[in-house]
Amino acid sequence: MNNIYLTDLIDISLLQRLQDSFSAATGLAAQTTDADGKPVTQRSNFTEFCSKLVRNSEPGHVRCEECAKKGAECTLKSGKSEAYRCHTGLTDFSAPIMLQNQMIGCFVGGQALTEEPIRKKCDKYAMELGIDKDVYWNAITEVPVIDKERIESAAMFLFESASVLSDIAYGKYRALESAREMENVSNMKSEFLANISHEIRTPMNAIIGMTEVALREEMPPAVKDYILQIKNAGNSLLSIVNDILDFSKIESGTISIIPEKYELMSIVHDATNILMNSRGEKDIDLFISLNPTLPRYLKGDSLRIKQVLLNIANNALKFTSEGYVRIDIDYETVDENHLNLIFTIKDTGIGIPDNQLEDIFESFHQLDSRRSRANEGAGLGLAICKKLIETMGGNISVSSKCGEGSIFRFELIQEIMNHSESFNIENKKKLHGFALISNNNELTFMEKEAKKHSIRFTSLDCFDDFKKYAAEEGSQTTDEKIYFFTDESTFDSVINDNTKFFKDVVFIVFTDYKSFRPSTGNIIFVKKPLSTIAIDIALSAHEAETNNSKKSEKIVFTAPEARILVVDDSLVNLKVVSSLLKPLKMQLETANSGFKALEMLKNNYYDLVFMDHMMPEMDGIETTKQIRRQYPEHSSMPIVALTANAVGGAREMFLAEGMSDFVAKPIEITKILSVLENWLPSEKIIRTE
Ligand code: ADP
Repeated sequence: MNNIYLTDLIDISLLQRLQDSFSAATGLAAQTTDADGKPVTQRSNFTEFCSKLVRNSEPGHVRCEECAKKGAECTLKSGKSEAYRCHTGLTDFSAPIMLQNQMIGCFVGGQALTEEPIRKKCDKYAMELGIDKDVYWNAITEVPVIDKERIESAAMFLFESASVLSDIAYGKYRALESAREMENVSNMKSEFLANISHEIRTPMNAIIGMTEVALREEMPPAVKDYILQIKNAGNSLLSIVNDILDFSKIESGTISIIPEKYELMSIVHDATNILMNSRGEKDIDLFISLNPTLPRYLKGDSLRIKQVLLNIANNALKFTSEGYVRIDIDYETVDENHLNLIFTIKDTGIGIPDNQLEDIFESFHQLDSRRSRANEGAGLGLAICKKLIETMGGNISVSSKCGEGSIFRFELIQEIMNHSESFNIENKKKLHGFALISNNNELTFMEKEAKKHSIRFTSLDCFDDFKKYAAEEGSQTTDEKIYFFTDESTFDSVINDNTKFFKDVVFIVFTDYKSFRPSTGNIIFVKKPLSTIAIDIALSAHEAETNNSKKSEKIVFTAPEARILVVDDSLVNLKVVSSLLKPLKMQLETANSGFKALEMLKNNYYDLVFMDHMMPEMDGIETTKQIRRQYPEHSSMPIVALTANAVGGAREMFLAEGMSDFVAKPIEITKILSVLENWLPSEKIIRTE
């Protein structure tokens, strides 16, 4: 109860209104002060004698405050209203405003005479206050003389008013106390949840980690299956614990949003890998479409954005058993340096009933347990998403139809760090895409994406239609570059043997997410999901191969003794780099993740490592740090970043992170050659004519 001030509990305006009404009703002066007699309100109905003369003098001012305080203390002692003669000879009364046993203010009134003033006494008062005797006398004789009874009833009125004010103060104090208690309890709860989830996470990581280690061993299939189940259940539990941890952080207001420069494509890239794994064997398509003109570098909390995207898209996959889940990323310009980034996640799943839509973002909310039983979760995901998006200044919404599917949308303002576009779609040649795709959803997606890449699009019913077209066009010269899009099964059964007859056509074959088929010549295999990024990679992968074959005559050395490791999570990229480097006859090995690279470096020595920057789980920078930390024997091994992040300052950034050099994507052979010449031991370089 320490340091409670009157105005913390009662509004000044309320005090003023009450005091003004008191003055209006009694015709007397009034004022409210704090516990020390210092005024907290404006004066009401003050006499000129008090306001202009007594309170204008320094000693008068101090004594008036003392009088108010002492008067209230006397009233407090006696427990009833007490009028008293103040240091000027006027009659005043003061009542305490109490909070339990503590005086927090005084309600003061009076400034009247109960009998005619006596000159001798007045001269003495004037002297004490340092005021001219005549001036004092003239002013005090202006003060009205009123009878004692009126004073007493006014004092009683003031006493009652002060006691009402004490009740109000107490009520407000109790309300504040209970709010504070509730906040304490809530903080304790959040802290408890945060601690406990942290404690659970540590052993959970060990459980999941050890199952991963165990799964690498040879074992009977049944045992492997048990361990897989432990791992899956462990992962589900970990994700619930993580949700609880996040939620408790949000509740206690300790969640931090860390805006940093990021590349939107890397969010999409990471999310794609995770989503394809969580889709598992489910027969639903995932599509990811980006507006190609989206600026490449933005500023915001990319981790949190990814978390929200993953949560919503994972739900979409969970609650959809046939059809597709489609993620669209678009934007609206806000001003020169800001855009409104918009994510839309559409699914063709079970949908959400109308009457549940409003509550869907509430915490611990799951729709009827029958729907969710098979789908683990704590009902916290969407509540966390909403809080996160709102904390980042954005908003989130949903529309849905039962049995047809749902559309979640979230948007947030992001700063533009660099105006270069995410995709450099500037086709020098006219492009014509043919598609023989049996899945209608895929076909529709392809058609829209082709438009974005400025590709004229023709959908085919069978491969013979394409042959007819080729026969007709073959007789004419055409300046169009032709792409043939198809899926793996159609390619294997009808097209494969024909590719050699159509040397100028590029066959882009979408394969299963888990399959790995190396691209050769004019056949480019691209892993699903179908996305703006995948199509872009397919188009540029072919260009890289063509450029390479054109430039191969420029190769001026070989290095058959040199051992090179290429680390990239994208098999298409690995293929591109490998084919670019082929003429150098080096010993090339590849790793499709940072973890794999670390494993390979344990027992191998390489003359140089090419390291992709953006990789899921452990990116190139983290992998490099781990290599430098874990393997001092490789401390001087050159690690060259392969990156799309080629803006100014990138080189310094990579060097600061422990890398030796960097090559920008799309990779040009001349650049790679100069890097190799620079970093490979000179005795391993054999000059050719
Ligand atoms: P949980 O982590 O339990 O999935 P969420 O907050 O993410 O919790 O989701 C709450 C509930 O909303 C889910 O249990 C599910 O019933 C419903 N829901 C969320 N997304 C979808 C969706 N795309 N389609 C149908 N129902 C959904």
